[in-house]
Amino acid sequence: MTSTSAKDDRFTLLTASRLIDGEGNPAIEDAAVLIHNDRIELVGSSTEVRAPDGAEVEVVDYGDASIVPGMVDAHTHLVSPGDGTPSDVVGQEKDDILLMQAIKNSRTILHSGVTSIRENGAKNHVTFSLREGIERGLAVGPKMTLCGRPVTITGGHMWYFGAEADGADEVRKQVRQLIKEGADYIKLVATGGSTRESNPLLPSYTVDELRVATEEAHHFGKLTAAHCASAQGVQNCLDADVDMIVHCVFEDAQGRYEYRPDLVDRLLEADAWVNPTLYVAQAGIDRFAEVVESAGDDAPALQAVLDERRRGLDNRMEACGRMMEAGVKMTAGSDSPWGDYAPGEFVHEVLMLSDAGLSAPDALASGMSGAADSIGMGDISGRLVAGRSADLLVVNGDPSKDLKALWNVVDVYQDGNRVERGVL
Ligand SMILES: [Zn+2]
Repeated sequence: MTSTSAKDDRFTLLTASRLIDGEGNPAIEDAAVLIHNDRIELVGSSTEVRAPDGAEVEVVDYGDASIVPGMVDAHTHLVSPGDGTPSDVVGQEKDDILLMQAIKNSRTILHSGVTSIRENGAKNHVTFSLREGIERGLAVGPKMTLCGRPVTITGGHMWYFGAEADGADEVRKQVRQLIKEGADYIKLVATGGSTRESNPLLPSYTVDELRVATEEAHHFGKLTAAHCASAQGVQNCLDADVDMIVHCVFEDAQGRYEYRPDLVDRLLEADAWVNPTLYVAQAGIDRFAEVVESAGDDAPALQAVLDERRRGLDNRMEACGRMMEAGVKMTAGSDSPWGDYAPGEFVHEVLMLSDAGLSAPDALASGMSGAADSIGMGDISGRLVAGRSADLLVVNGDPSKDLKALWNVVDVYQDGNRVERGVL
């Protein structure tokens, strides 16, 4: 059947003023990328990159735009609306409502130019169902690596998502259960967090419990990541061989910030990734500042809370800058649409990493190849290299010089197909 063979051998040639490979290399000027079906076939200068003789090829010239890899967000929560709804409220919603929310968010995220994500925790079976729905063509969204549910102590942060486990045996069983359901990695909750019943300054799991989880995950070839909202949590996770430290807050049990060179040395030694999630804090502060503003004369107490939150973020920015300087591997993961961080605005997190100290090319790479490597998707996503999935993005401007160009999305390609984004 000719129609089938034509479909099986589809070439698309994209050209533009520049191409950025996502690894921090200098841009290729007058660039082209040849897509063969769902894969990248060739990348280079437009004078060199051509379709095979006689092949039928669709050519799209993007003029003075940039071709870059689809962005990779290492940290999402697809069941959350991102409009300030507290997670405790999100956690009480019915699964079918959360699934609809997740469908809406995954489309928004894909349309914004993020073509791969790591989902950091949802309720019950919702994200497994979402991924199956996308595979069946019932919904659209980025490629996703899933934890399903975060593993947490009874009453711990995100307990409402349905994976409470206490003691070595329950933790081991929960890890096995998640892998059985389709988890690609294991998300652990090592301290409290924004969940009402939990205290972010206190560790939740013991080192022994964490170690059981990482050993079990690693035994099945799965990575681990852990929520750490205070220093003891970071230390416990390093003792337990966790692969990615999320948030990486250095406050002690009394809430005092002190930069921890000892923990930074251990992060380097372990070659662990840090996902600092900076903009989600900024978004919360911005929203809260509006509340303080509208409170008028009643504001002094609120103003003190706002000042405290600003100081907390300043400390995290300072710690990130020092960790970057020390050579700790930083990945861009937004944490959106958690809290006040709306979906589809991943670029904010890349900009915050740049504000904290990464150069523009390094910040760009942290949201592309770096993020992909950090979540075990480096062979698939985050780089414009022959053989990778043809997930890419066309933006106006030059994001290697000005990261804000990432907002100016012209087109998104997923598996070699231009994503139909409708009237924007
Ligand atoms: Zn999170």
